[in-house]
Amino acid sequence: MLLNRILVMTLPAFLFWSCASKTVIIQSNQLEPIARDLEIITRADWGWVPLTDSIPTHEIKFITIHHGGEDFPEDKDPIKYLRGLQSWSQTDKNWIDNPYHYMIDLRGNIYEARPIRYPGDTNTDYDVRGHALICVMGNYENQILSPIQFEQLAKLTASLADRYDVSPDHIKSHRDYTETLCPGKDLYRYLEDGSLLLRIAALRN
Ligand SMILES: [Zn+2]
Repeated sequence: MLLNRILVMTLPAFLFWSCASKTVIIQSNQLEPIARDLEIITRADWGWVPLTDSIPTHEIKFITIHHGGEDFPEDKDPIKYLRGLQSWSQTDKNWIDNPYHYMIDLRGNIYEARPIRYPGDTNTDYDVRGHALICVMGNYENQILSPIQFEQLAKLTASLADRYDVSPDHIKSHRDYTETLCPGKDLYRYLEDGSLLLRIAALRN
């Protein structure tokens, strides 16, 4: 692909430049590198607290899409939300970390959350082992998914699907497994009409 060629040609300059820029160093040291054209805000970038506990690891075979389920106003700080969610997960729920592996905010920024080698967590009754969990912040029963959120969700899903060799029929949402409104009607409609899977297929290598 043209983009890959451009990245290969610019890589030496990128690495040189990274020596002078803290932000770029962090990005080039991503713990779970996925597609290089996808910018991810790393755990180190948002103040994730390293884990003190662990659980058996798993292999990714599914990608499952969620929403946060809480209304998310424009002026709410996603970093504070991520930190608060980690602390609530550990203290109130006794989980090792945030329940999801990746989170997307209202502007389409993508954040690493729980390390993907550990299965996520859920308040419902499906088996999360083998699932990569992506959560879009907000409540899409009430909120509208923006075009940039749709695109970033598709890019992240395509990237994970390529990396873990996930088949398209294993890309679903929470409500496809259990009784829940998650990921909310305005997000679910793109799964229902097939447009999200189409976009993901177009983005896959
Ligand atoms: Zn969910």
